[in-house]
This record gives sequence, structure tokens and C-alpha cells, in this order.
Amino acid sequence: MQTSTGKRLASALAAALSVATLTAFAVAPLTEAPLPPNLRIIEPVVLRPQALPTEGEFLRQTVISRGESLGSLFRKLGDQDRELGEFVRTDPTARKLLGLQPGTTVRAEVNGQNQIKSLSYPLHAGHEPDQPPLRLELKRDGSQWQASLAPLVMDRTLVTRTATITSSLFAAADHAGIPDAITARIPEIFGSEMDFHRDVQQGDRLRVVYETFTDPMNLSDGQPGKLLAVEYQGQNQRLEAVWFEREGGEGDFYNFDGRTLRKTFLRSPMEFTRITSGFTNGRRHPVFRDWRVHKGIDYAAPAGTNIRTIGEGVVEFSGVQRGYGNVVIVKHDRERSTLYAHMRRIAPRVVEGVKVSRGQVIGQVGQTGWASGPHLHFEFLVNGEPNDPAAVLPPPEPPLDREALARFQDNTSELLRRMRWQDENQLAAFE
Ligand SMILES: [Zn+2]
Repeated sequence: MQTSTGKRLASALAAALSVATLTAFAVAPLTEAPLPPNLRIIEPVVLRPQALPTEGEFLRQTVISRGESLGSLFRKLGDQDRELGEFVRTDPTARKLLGLQPGTTVRAEVNGQNQIKSLSYPLHAGHEPDQPPLRLELKRDGSQWQASLAPLVMDRTLVTRTATITSSLFAAADHAGIPDAITARIPEIFGSEMDFHRDVQQGDRLRVVYETFTDPMNLSDGQPGKLLAVEYQGQNQRLEAVWFEREGGEGDFYNFDGRTLRKTFLRSPMEFTRITSGFTNGRRHPVFRDWRVHKGIDYAAPAGTNIRTIGEGVVEFSGVQRGYGNVVIVKHDRERSTLYAHMRRIAPRVVEGVKVSRGQVIGQVGQTGWASGPHLHFEFLVNGEPNDPAAVLPPPEPPLDREALARFQDNTSELLRRMRWQDENQLAAFE
């Protein structure tokens, strides 16, 4: 009787495993050419005393579903176990299992009586801020349960994936098996170059290289790490970025030639100016003579002086607003935009939805709206809130010097080889 239960469990496990394997093949990238083998970097090995299950014992694992209870988790792994449930609720270490994270794989050893003998639950980084990933181990010792924490040693693998857009960026990435956490970084990196809601077109191609951390004791897919390189080939533009850590450990995205992708802004919207009013929390309004917050910077200049946008972006508003007169708002990325007010004249092509480049003349100084004299009222908005530009504008990042550039080429050559592999393969096919 027990043997037949055992066989049933064994075959159930085998079936589960073969389903997992099939799934893994189903999400393999749709590439025309073979990709280089994954670079496998094994982190320092910590010895884990791990007895193989003896006869009549089974290894089972299950993925925690959303809203899963401890009871249903135990039932999926073996028999409902009152003692284990009680232990998890009362033991200070075992209690960490209570915060069941959906998507996490739990592994259990189960004996021939369908009793859970041990249970292993990974506490990934991010589970508790600034804590290294740990593994929670629960073990039955006779009638007693014991809980312990051990470092969770993960294998780091680099994964290359290629996707072709058919409808949206996320749909294509999903289809190619690229995790959402990785895909979400792409519009952030290229936010000011391309609007990934509007500008993607059928046939655009995306290639990414990213880290995956796999638990060697776990059969399921790994956890995505950092996005390391991305290339986007659209109809009219090609975008590229590679992650590079500078001396001191701070990292940023660069193009493949080592030029920074960090958005830089001009220090001023006018070439030669005199600032008449800085960012304050309160001042007497020059027209209304009452105290109010001044959420921008006033640049005094003769009427007709050119006004230039301090960064590239898309015109979000161009027209008349009460108080501001002729006003232009330029959106630079998801968070940041700039506002230019009291213009005498807005440049003819500066209309809503149009792209502007850094330094482009968008109009001339005037005194339309509530202004006591010709000046530019300038605001730097972060999530729609005016900020002190002097405080929030990042200093322009210096280009990599010769030494840093050599290190950049050294560190990124493997990534770039992976990115270019396919192009070379396709070229070779034509030759
Ligand atoms: Zn002002």
C-alpha cells in the first residue's frame, strides 16, 4: 500500500518535472541563430551538508501562489501537519515562513507516510532590506522541529534574449521569456529618446543581456538580477546601452562606445542672463504685492532674447495659461519637465507632441501674463512639483578618461560580444 503511494508520488513528481522542462523550452528565445553558451559564474561555494533522500523519501517542491495559506502550502507538499503549523507560528526563526512570498519555490522532503520531514524556503534579497539572501531550513528531529538560517548561495548566469515586436514592448518581451523586472528598465534607460508606448512598431527588434540568479537546490527558473546590456533596433533609430561600474562602485548605462547615457541639462535656458529671483519659499509678488511662494527662477533679459530648452524632450504644452502668458512645457523623461513662461512669442514649430533637442530655441523673452517687466519665468518640475533647479539638476557627468575607457572595454567586451553575436552570424550567412 505504502509502496503504491510512493510510486504514485514518484510519478507525480516526474510528471511535474517534465511539465517544468517543457515550460522551459516553450519560453526559449525566438532566435534565428544560435546564441553563445551562457556564461556561468559560480559564486564562492559554501558547503551544504545535504543528505540525499533515502528510499521511500521524496523531494517535492511547489511555487507559492498569491494569497496562499500555510495550511494549503503544507497540503501541497504532504499531509497537513499540526505540529509544523504550530512550530512555524511560535518559533521566532520559523516565523519567517509566515510572510509567504508568491512566486517563491518551497522544497520539502517527504517520507513514505506523506509526512513532511524537512522544508527549505529561500529568503531572497529584498525580503528584508539590506539583508543578504538566506535559506530558512525547517527539520524534524524525532517529534521536535528545528529552524535554522543559512546563506543562500546562488549561481549567477548571464542570459541573452532576443525579441521581435508584434504589438507592444511588454508583449514581445513576455513572448521571449524576458522577466518584467528587466523589461521595465528599458523605457527608464531610453525614456527621453523614445516613448515606448507610442513609438514602437511592428518588426522592431530588442536584444537584452541580464543576470539570472539560480538556486542550485531548486529546479525552477531563477530570479532576474541586473539588466546589463540592451539594444533596440527601431525603424528610424537604434538605441543601445551597457551597464558599467565606475571606480568606486557607482554604475551607470553607457552607449557601446563608452559615452554616458545620463541625461544632461544646460545650466541655463538663456546664454547670458541675470537672475532676478531665485527659488524661494515666499516673497512679495511684483504685481500683486502679496507674499506668495515663488516656485521658479526669473531671468531678467531684454524682450526678444532667445529662450532655449535646457534638455531634449517632447513639448507637453504650448500656448497661453492664465498668469504665465505664453508658456511652453517640455517633458524630458517620465519624472522631469521644464516650464518657460511670459514669452513674447513661441517659436512656430514648438507645438504639443513635437520633439525638441537640448539648446533648441523655443521662443523669445516677453512679459505676457502677470509680469512686471520682460523676463523669463523658468520652472524645473519633478513629478509635476516645482523644484529648485540648482538643487536637483545633476552635475554633468565627465566622460570616461583613458584609463576608465580601457576598463570599460575590458569589462564590457564579453557583453558586447554576446550582443553582436547574432549580427555576425547573419553576416556570415550572407558571405
Ligand atoms: Zn517668476
